[in-house]
Amino acid sequence: MKADLHSHSYYSDGVYSPSEVVGFADKAKCDIFSLTDHDTTDGLLEAQEKADDLALNFIPGVEISAMWKNMTIHILGLGVNINNHMLQEGLRQNQKLREERAEKIALGLRRTGIEDALEKTKSLSQANMITRTHFAQMLIREGYCKDNKAVFRRFLTGKKPGAAHVNWSGFDEVIGWINSAGGLAVIAHPFRYRMTHSKIKRMFGEFKEAFGDGVEAITAMSSEQEVNLCSTWANEINLLISSGSDYHGWPNQRIKIGLLKELQNNDNLIWNHLEWQR
Ligand code: AMP
Ligand code: MN
Ligand code: MN
Ligand code: MN
Repeated sequence: MKADLHSHSYYSDGVYSPSEVVGFADKAKCDIFSLTDHDTTDGLLEAQEKADDLALNFIPGVEISAMWKNMTIHILGLGVNINNHMLQEGLRQNQKLREERAEKIALGLRRTGIEDALEKTKSLSQANMITRTHFAQMLIREGYCKDNKAVFRRFLTGKKPGAAHVNWSGFDEVIGWINSAGGLAVIAHPFRYRMTHSKIKRMFGEFKEAFGDGVEAITAMSSEQEVNLCSTWANEINLLISSGSDYHGWPNQRIKIGLLKELQNNDNLIWNHLEWQR
């Protein structure tokens, strides 16, 4: 069973169009696939149409920025109805927060002598959605850094000039948007938040209490140990287990759609709780 339920198109910070991304999923022989752009569902109609053409099982998804204990957490909404008012209202809020953050980042960069950062960065976004990845691309293009990792370290995180705190909605609220749109809420890439294991477990517990549905136990970057730990913690409190590559299509990245570890003998796999045709 090849399930890839986390990917990006150029409607957020991916490189390719929704049709291209769905085409890659089909080539990789995914049994079930989801496009989950950051804070927007704008690519989903195109993706669904392409998936229908290819007879690929497609789950409409979204990756929403949220807050837990003053930290930014990404929550996937899987199987969402894109016409749901509450979800779209929430996404609009996040899009506005992104615009405000982009201005703050540009202001910070100007203080270090980098001019016109906002205009230059906007021109790199194909769909009017500014992510920090776009700022990173701009700074690499302008010769300030050699790669993404260096940009985030030097400019975009901690107390660096282009770091800007965003007060996203709390994660219980975001779970509410997703559930209201008929979707399942899943904590994305739990090991990427630099939390201790006990803190991750606490987050899972609170997520469950707030009616969250699952955790992404399998990502392209997960070690065997992380997959096992995460699925054990999830099983203990009846959270479902999801699997996704977080494909963006960036060059110099080894991540490929559908290239993921598989879990055997687990009753709590999220694709058994989503609507799709085999
Ligand atoms: P945003 O949602 O606009 O804050 O941007 C998040 C994107 O930036 C994610 O999709 C990550 O791929 C990327 N990102 C976040 N932190 C880092 C980092 N430390 N190094 C490289 N990429 C990062
Ligand atoms: Mn991204
Ligand atoms: Mn993410
Ligand atoms: Mn992602």
